[in-house]
Amino acid sequence: MYLISSHEMLKDAQRNNYAVPAFNIHNLETVQVVVETAAEMRSPVILAGTPGTYKHAGVDYLVSICKSAANKHKLPLVLHLDHHEDISDIENKIHSGIRSAMIDASHSPFEDNIRTVKQVVEMCHRLGVSVEAELGLLGGQEDDLIIDEADAQLTDPTSAREFVLSTGIDSLAVAIGTAHGLYKSEPKLDFERLAAIRECVDIPLVLHGASGISDQDVRRCIELGICKVNVATELKIAFSDAMKTYLGSHPDASDPRQYLVPGMQAMKDVVISKINVCGSANRI
Ligand SMILES: [Zn+2]
Repeated sequence: MYLISSHEMLKDAQRNNYAVPAFNIHNLETVQVVVETAAEMRSPVILAGTPGTYKHAGVDYLVSICKSAANKHKLPLVLHLDHHEDISDIENKIHSGIRSAMIDASHSPFEDNIRTVKQVVEMCHRLGVSVEAELGLLGGQEDDLIIDEADAQLTDPTSAREFVLSTGIDSLAVAIGTAHGLYKSEPKLDFERLAAIRECVDIPLVLHGASGISDQDVRRCIELGICKVNVATELKIAFSDAMKTYLGSHPDASDPRQYLVPGMQAMKDVVISKINVCGSANRI
């Protein structure tokens, strides 16, 4: 098995009104849990890493682990570049075998965003790599980048149409009121805006910042055209909270084969729940 692009996977989700969950992974244990659970539930799945994750784990290590997981479970697997900003960085990672990339130039002015994304699309499509880009600006923290809530911008539907037509991207990340990280107050999603974007744009839409959004709201987003739901924070919290609890009650524990297990079980519960919310079980 090899790592695949997310183009066909998201098109199938779009045709059949479900979403593919994309889980941010960090190490062997997160990959094992996500892929094993997706295989058990016969769900397509995307494994995503930010630049910080690839730097932490090493690109070749992550690619090898993900290929081994795909082989072991006979599961077509996407390893995705989440929130990448540097074209040569994306190109280098493609040469390591990755076939799905997000170029995030959403903090640049509209024309600059288009120019950067177009360049990445030309390079990626030549190499069979699918491209996601973002229009609008999500609040919150992703890697080291912090966007103040006041500076967040929602996606304009008409600009979205121009953005998609000008760049040739495969999927569009939209800003409709979600934010990265934990929510300080109940998030209010702009469903009307999402419906209007769907009217203007015919490619799969992507929801970032889905951790902390109610299952009901995520389902509504999927009905309105979201085909990829990103989950990062909830997985991290489940892993670390379960480990903290275990280490709190076993202060002498020193064997990672023991203290990582409760964290893995807690992540598995999150993965099962997200696959159910996305309606992606039994799609492969
Ligand atoms: Zn994101």
